[in-house]
Amino acid sequence: MGELLIYNAGQIFTAAGGPRRGAALAEKTVAAGDALLARDGLIVAAGPRTDVEKLAGADCEVLDCGGRLVTPGLVDCHTHLVYGGSRADEYERRLAGASYLEIFEGGGGIHATVRDTRAASEDDLLSSARRRAEVFLSHGTTAAEVKSGYGLTTEDELKMLRAAARLGKELPLKIIPTFLGAHAIPSEYADRRDDFVALLTDEMIPAVTAEGLAEYADVFCDRGAFNVDETRAVLAAARDAGLKLRLHADEFEPLGGTELAVEMGAASVDHLAVVTTAGIDALAGSDTVAVLLPGTTVFLGSSHFAPARKLIDAGALVAVASDHNPGSCHAASLRTILTPGTTYLKMTPTEMLHAVTINAAYSLGRADRLGSLEPGKAADVAVFDAADVDELFYDWGPTRAWATVADGKVVYRDAPPRFNP
Ligand SMILES: [Zn+2]
Repeated sequence: MGELLIYNAGQIFTAAGGPRRGAALAEKTVAAGDALLARDGLIVAAGPRTDVEKLAGADCEVLDCGGRLVTPGLVDCHTHLVYGGSRADEYERRLAGASYLEIFEGGGGIHATVRDTRAASEDDLLSSARRRAEVFLSHGTTAAEVKSGYGLTTEDELKMLRAAARLGKELPLKIIPTFLGAHAIPSEYADRRDDFVALLTDEMIPAVTAEGLAEYADVFCDRGAFNVDETRAVLAAARDAGLKLRLHADEFEPLGGTELAVEMGAASVDHLAVVTTAGIDALAGSDTVAVLLPGTTVFLGSSHFAPARKLIDAGALVAVASDHNPGSCHAASLRTILTPGTTYLKMTPTEMLHAVTINAAYSLGRADRLGSLEPGKAADVAVFDAADVDELFYDWGPTRAWATVADGKVVYRDAPPRFNP
């Protein structure tokens, strides 16, 4: 696969040293030097160019960063990248005063995307997701968790997950698939919720695992979605089938989902806008990652952000993700929410960059391979047009990366804009 020497970096933010919690989240992790060498897709060394260059062979490729910031490729640990249709109309209705839950309860919201996703072919889903995934890559994201959850029939959920698997083969974006059949009770099951839970546990989960289409299972445990008992039943069936667990909880109403996620050893519990003190305490004493989604709070026009400072200060593992989805956060990429994320969550740039790299990778069970620039790990790298981390966050756009490297190969290079005279 060859070698790549990345040199002349303004700063190399490594995120080295494993997942971080508490005060360690804010410790700067910057390499002493301006160069990084990758061989056969893996990082060999980071440090001063004179030292690193000696390790390179004669036909090593080079990337001169021109004094720009080098970071690990961003890891987006919560996305709904695969779906049919658009909900631009709903965005306007929300601006006119309708709430997310009102629209959902009136048959819109997730229900609208379910109708569009069922109507789409696997190829349709792949081609629309591919356009979004290309934006992710051009914004420095090199790995993304992708959820199903807009099919809500066995065949349509499998169709979404098959599209996600093909996406990971077509593009140099690493895809970690999650089965989210328990995203909403579909309207045809509105009066027989138990039957839908049984469909999830007895038919969908076995079908998904038989094809090896998911690594995680997720449930939306909240008002208007699944209650704690239903959530427990789905998570238990998923765990018994060999899937690891994630959970949407405490976005609108604290039902006890966070505590349940910790009790069941889930890898992450996500949203947490209204997490309780008991939830924070449970997370602080666990390895379950609190995944915060500030872009969603902004996009929904809410001012109720997850209590990032309380979670960090209590010692919980905190990651941040884009929550890219067609309804509640149509963010272009994780990069686009870094600046508003630090502003509203009151996190420092260093904390946020650890949250979207090594801690996000840990929540996906990949802290040994992704999320930091250390020897032996995948050479997934983002180069941003900023001198250092502080300047990256200060620049609220342009949000494209200057270059993106996946497995030691330059897979994206930004081009200067062209103007007609
Ligand atoms: Zn979500």
